[in-house]
Amino acid sequence: MEKKMKKFFIDLVEAPSPSGFEQAAQEVYRKFIGEYADDVKTDVHGNVIAFKKGTGDLRLMLVGHADEIGLMINYIDDNGFIRFVPIGGVDVALLPGTRVNIYHEKNLVRGVIGRKAIHLLKPEERKNSPKLEDLWIDIGAIDREAAEKRVCVGDPITFTPGFEVLEGDIITSKATDNKAGVFVVASVMKELAKVELKCNLYSVAAVQEEVGLRGARTSAYGIDPHVGIAIDVTHSSDFPGISKNTLGDIRLGKGPVISVGCNINPKVFELLKKAGDEAKVNYQIEAAPRGTGTDANALQVTRSGVAAGLVSIPNRYMHTQNEVIHLGDLTDTAKLLAKFTQLIDSETNFIPGV
Ligand SMILES: [Zn+2]
Repeated sequence: MEKKMKKFFIDLVEAPSPSGFEQAAQEVYRKFIGEYADDVKTDVHGNVIAFKKGTGDLRLMLVGHADEIGLMINYIDDNGFIRFVPIGGVDVALLPGTRVNIYHEKNLVRGVIGRKAIHLLKPEERKNSPKLEDLWIDIGAIDREAAEKRVCVGDPITFTPGFEVLEGDIITSKATDNKAGVFVVASVMKELAKVELKCNLYSVAAVQEEVGLRGARTSAYGIDPHVGIAIDVTHSSDFPGISKNTLGDIRLGKGPVISVGCNINPKVFELLKKAGDEAKVNYQIEAAPRGTGTDANALQVTRSGVAAGLVSIPNRYMHTQNEVIHLGDLTDTAKLLAKFTQLIDSETNFIPGV
């Protein structure tokens, strides 16, 4: 991956953006995309919409969600210890003993998530994973008054591990879900910057996916696309304890994962595969027999319906502090989608069976 792009990805994953507090990540996106788009707008919900004009009327929307899971302060006790609630799907078992960042106005406050030491746990406490109410954040404050000088109820909190290379292109970080998607929609626009398109391209960094696909819904309503592709992460099945019988065979480094099923327009599915073949990109297929838990779901049922697609980046340990992905899958996904964008125009028929 070229240096500039790697830096962009690192800036994205390290920017704090729990759902509802995305603007630090959105600023990274806005700064990057400006030179490649004809226009960049931020809507009232916080979605950032980059636009590149093509010939013809067809509107294509690519969307990656900029929000990440996190925590939020809901109570500070008399001794200055902070209680918190999750933003999105947080695995409480992974929290004790970790460090967190609390964002208070313009300040960053460091904290640790405390739990009784193993010596002090009762036998039944040792057996069970902790509950949210057993945990707290310690910011070193001596009492409530001292804590309230530095933080307040409502402050957002993120996990801290930043970007790190494990080996070659295999990297770990918090929030690859779904800065990976934001990175891809930006990369597609960059790749097509000098290309004349036969469709109008909207690359969207959407907010609030982790709390109910909310930003994709508002941005899609505004854009009113004919075709919409969500780019997100999906579970790989290439690590211990995972059954390929249930998840299928999805591996890191084997390329973008194209979903098929009721959430996906069949013609979009075929065109995505064609784009992969023409771009000479390896891809994998994922069976999705229901509405997916991704922005593709919100896209598809916008207004009177949008021809939806879903392309995903294989991801290990999703929603943990240390997710693992392969950077090659990001560049391959961008290549596939850049090709897809060039395969469609106002004449393309997305009506199933006709
Ligand atoms: Zn997620």
